[in-house]
Amino acid sequence: MSLQMHDPLTGDSVSVSLMPSDMSKLWYFRLDCKSQSGKHYIISLAKHQKRWACSCPGYCRRKIRECKHLRALGLQNKLDPPEPILNVISPMRWFAIKALLETTDV
Ligand SMILES: [Zn+2]
Repeated sequence: MSLQMHDPLTGDSVSVSLMPSDMSKLWYFRLDCKSQSGKHYIISLAKHQKRWACSCPGYCRRKIRECKHLRALGLQNKLDPPEPILNVISPMRWFAIKALLETTDV
């Protein structure tokens, strides 16, 4: 299952798909993002810091952890979904909800 979204800054089409949880269980909801222009980054929820992270250089460079990819998905440095929801819904279900929100937003 993958979702097409648009990078609001570049207009690039981005394909987003959900990756399986990693074995260390430090990262949740890992979203594998590939843009039309060949950029590849992974967005995931850092379990212990309780915040979203991105693997792009922009995110890693900044002291205030954020980047345009997190902004595009509305996941700027906050826990979303909140922890109680994390415990009761599966990642795939959350992803489906998120995909629905993205498409109805247009
Ligand atoms: Zn990023």
